[in-house]
Amino acid sequence: MPEPAPGVEPQYRIADFPEVRAIFDRIGLAEQLGVSNPYFLINDGVTRDTSVIGGQDVLNFSSYNYLGMSGHPAVTTAVCDAVTRYGSSVSASRLLSGEKTIHAELERELAALLGTEDAITFTSGHATNVTVIGHIVGPGDLIVHDSLAHDSILQGCKLSGATRRPFPHNDHAALDRVLADIRGRYRRVLIVIEGVYSQDGDIPDLPAIIEVKRKHKALLMIDEAHSIGVLGATGGGIGEHFDIDRADVELWSGTMSKALAGCGGYVAGSAELVRFLKYTTPGFIYSVGITPANAAASLAAIRQLRAEPELPRRLRELSRLFLTLAQEAGIDTGDSQDTPVVPCIIGDSMRALALSNALLRRGINANPILYPAVPEDKARLRFFITACHTEEQITSTVKILAEELETLRAAG
Ligand code: PMP
Repeated sequence: MPEPAPGVEPQYRIADFPEVRAIFDRIGLAEQLGVSNPYFLINDGVTRDTSVIGGQDVLNFSSYNYLGMSGHPAVTTAVCDAVTRYGSSVSASRLLSGEKTIHAELERELAALLGTEDAITFTSGHATNVTVIGHIVGPGDLIVHDSLAHDSILQGCKLSGATRRPFPHNDHAALDRVLADIRGRYRRVLIVIEGVYSQDGDIPDLPAIIEVKRKHKALLMIDEAHSIGVLGATGGGIGEHFDIDRADVELWSGTMSKALAGCGGYVAGSAELVRFLKYTTPGFIYSVGITPANAAASLAAIRQLRAEPELPRRLRELSRLFLTLAQEAGIDTGDSQDTPVVPCIIGDSMRALALSNALLRRGINANPILYPAVPEDKARLRFFITACHTEEQITSTVKILAEELETLRAAG
C-alpha cells in the first residue's frame, strides 16, 4: 500500500469505525444498567390496537396504523386479488415495462383525496423525499426547512447540493425573516414543512406559511406522512384541515405506510409537476414500480376511508381523550394538539427507557424516543393513537402510565 497522506489514518475494518463502536457502546450501556433493549421487539400478528410481543397480547401505542386499515378485511382481500392478478412484483421500472392499471388507479385516488390534479407514487416514503428534493432544487438554490424536519428531508437537502437553512420549529415569522435576509441570493427557494410533526404531534400554521411563501416567491413542499388520512373531515390531510386552495402548495408529498396501510411514497400536485417527475426523477425511472400488493393496499385503504367517513373523526375523538386524560394526570405532553401523536416527555433517556420497560411489563407497548433522536431534556415515550383503540384501552393506559411515572419519581 502506498504511504497515506500526512494526517490521514487509513480505516479498513468496519468493526473499528468510531461510529460502529459508539452504537455498540450505547446498546451495551443500556444492558449494563439493567434495562432491556427496546429496539427490534418482535410484534407478531397484525399491529392494530393490540399486538403480540413475546407471546403476550399487549395494548399497542407504537404503530402508524392510524385508521386500522392494515389488517382491515377489505384491504387484505384487495391485496390477495392484486397478487393473484399481477404477481408479487411488477418486475420493471414503470417507465419501461412495469406499468399496471393499479398504479394509475391509485394515483387518481390519491389526487382525488388530496384535491390535486395528479399524483406519482414511489416505492419508499423516505426515498421519495430524498429523490424528489434532490431533483427539484440544486446548487444555487435554497432550501428552508422546519428545524424538526424528518431525516428523509435532510437527506434530500444533502443530495440536492442546495444551500440549507433550518428555521425554528413552526415559527413562520422566523421563516419570513430568513427569507427577507437571503432570498435575493438564490434562484429557487423551496420551503419544506410537515403536515403533523411526528415527535411532537403538532400542526403548522399552513395559511401563514403560504403567505410567507407567496411574499418571497418560494415553492412549498409539505410532507404529509402523519397527516394524510388523519387531518381533515374526510382524511384529506392538512390542506383539507385548513381548507386552503391546494394549488398554493407545489409539492404535496407523503407516505402510504401509515394511514394508507401500504409501503411507498407519493408526490401530488399539478399535472405538469407529476408529468415532469414521471419522466425524469432518478428514484422513479431507475427504480422498480410499487408492488401490486402495496398499490392495492393503499388503493383499498383510500376507498375504505370513503366508505367509512367516520374514521378520521373517531381518531380525533380518541386522540383528544388520550391528551385530555394525560394532561389531567399532570403528564408533560409538549405541544401535541388535535393529532394522534402524543408524547410523554420525561427529560432523561435512561428514565424514558425504564418507563417503557415498566409499561411493557404491564402489557402496554409505547416506544421510547431517546437522545440523539430528540435533545436529552426532551427524551420521551411516544404514544400513537389509532381509530381502532377503545375508550377503555385509552383510560386504562393513561392510568397505568401515571402510576408508573409516580413510581419512577418516587425512586428518585
Ligand atoms: N416522512 C416522515 C415525516 C416520516 O415520519 C417518515 C417515516 N416515519 C417518512 C417520511 C418515511 O416514510 P416511510 O417509512 O414510509 O419510508
